[in-house]
Amino acid sequence: MKVLVVNCGSSSIKYQLFEMDNELVLAKGLVERIGLEGSILTHQPTGKEKKVINANITNHVIGISLVLEALTDANYGVISNMNEIDAIGHRGIHGGEKFSDSVLINENVIKAIEECNDMAPLHNPPSISGINACSELMPNVPQVIVFDTAFHQTMPKHAFMYGLPYEAYEKYGIRRYGFHGTSHKYVSQRVADLMGKDFKDLKIITCHLGNGSSVAAIKNGKCIDTSMGFTPLEGLLMGTRCGNIDPAIIPFLMKKENMTLDQIDNYINKKSGVLGVSGISSDFRDIEKAAESGNDRAQLALDMFTYEVVKFVGSYAAAMNGVDAIVFTAGVGENSIEMREHISSSLEYLGTKVDKEKNNIRGKEREFSVDGSKVKLFVIPTNEELVIARDTKTICTK
Ligand code: ADP
Repeated sequence: MKVLVVNCGSSSIKYQLFEMDNELVLAKGLVERIGLEGSILTHQPTGKEKKVINANITNHVIGISLVLEALTDANYGVISNMNEIDAIGHRGIHGGEKFSDSVLINENVIKAIEECNDMAPLHNPPSISGINACSELMPNVPQVIVFDTAFHQTMPKHAFMYGLPYEAYEKYGIRRYGFHGTSHKYVSQRVADLMGKDFKDLKIITCHLGNGSSVAAIKNGKCIDTSMGFTPLEGLLMGTRCGNIDPAIIPFLMKKENMTLDQIDNYINKKSGVLGVSGISSDFRDIEKAAESGNDRAQLALDMFTYEVVKFVGSYAAAMNGVDAIVFTAGVGENSIEMREHISSSLEYLGTKVDKEKNNIRGKEREFSVDGSKVKLFVIPTNEELVIARDTKTICTK
């Protein structure tokens, strides 16, 4: 069975074509700058040379049709015709309270996604454009959507409610939803496999540390808390997002700086985080380099980030009354040896012990705690596309 995984942004489409019999990626690629000048498709067939196609890609239908052409091309394609695609899996961002699992797409599902548009104005409309484009070009191929929020729907009410008047929840659905759920699900299930234990018998804390970052607490196979909230702004300080701040700062700053709603939104989402603190970059590699050469604000940004991760892990160990494994994933979690070491060595009171030699690794799956330590430490590269492909296969072969 072949599954095409599609992740649509407002001006981009990421895709991977999987052969599910052996879970291998046949080809992957990226359409960029949809609707803008200089739109481009970069197609990478596995084991063959990369192909870059410049074209006037004005909308998602044209984008997807170019992807299909690339996949079926006589020279750089990987399938002989598009009927070989058995199912399509979409990455969905916000499924609100309506979706606690992946689902086969039909008209009612599209309506329900549209009802969540207000909560994810940048993300949900492009997903719908992608779904419509696929329906137009491949009307008989079943489509599934896998939401970033779904894995977190098991959180108990006392963990997902905010201390606002209850009507805010009833009227507008204001509550914690959490994001990166597909990633937290993948690495938490994977760590159980690597430990040779049943997922349902473990207390796991997963740290998805990338440009956007979140931590999740998974007890007996269910997410019980996570650091992102109503939107992906809450929780840790991130590349450009401020994370947790005193909410009273918002009206204070708006008054002092005479800011509009859009300006403050941009300030806390795009200008803050490690970029805002360091004044250097949102990229952790640049900040680590600057800190090494003695830049105090770069060091401060790193210290703040590390400190916040340590606090979240500690609070989730408390929430679960213990922890068996801590997993690091995403760009920073998979690659920053220093960050993993600093965070893990601040958690020794829980029973973590870093094996520095084993921790000397980037982007590979490995346990890096000292043999026999009470709490196991792991690096596990995330694979959200594989989860989407697996869920799509499961739903379409039911
Ligand atoms: P996104 O949230 O955009 O998916 P990623 O998970 O790809 O982000 O993570 C991107 C972040 O990972 C960037 O800030 C980048 O600096 C960081 N990163 C990648 N490689 C390294 C590395 N070797 N050391 C430190 N940080 C790294």
